[in-house]
Amino acid sequence: MKYRYACPSCRTELNPHEDVVVVAKNGDRSGLVLLHPEPGNQRVFVAASLQLKPKDAVRFYCPVCQAELKSAAATNLVRLDYKAQDGSEGFATFSRVYGEHASFYVEKDGAVRAFGESAPLYGDCKFYVEWISG
Ligand SMILES: [Zn+2]
Repeated sequence: MKYRYACPSCRTELNPHEDVVVVAKNGDRSGLVLLHPEPGNQRVFVAASLQLKPKDAVRFYCPVCQAELKSAAATNLVRLDYKAQDGSEGFATFSRVYGEHASFYVEKDGAVRAFGESAPLYGDCKFYVEWISG
């Protein structure tokens, strides 16, 4: 099933083809990151300029409006909005800590799907705060 991702601030689609394109910053270094669009697929392409090491907490930004893509549910989670081919929509959050594999798909009705071996680290997250914060 195809997933379309958008910036929560400007609503620009971030995967016009396949991979999701975002800007990442690691300290004073920056570069592009490509994320696989399939839920739970951890394959990622990272610009060498970011010089990422395990546990680096990367910040992610929209390449169009430069808004930081952060989740209200936890400081180490990034947020994108998604719309699936079957019409379901919600937000996708994933860990911004390099080497951590945790992502969550939260549907508008509140159903949460968790992926990745690091997901239990975020077991206490109250994802519904995203709907309150907009
Ligand atoms: Zn944007």
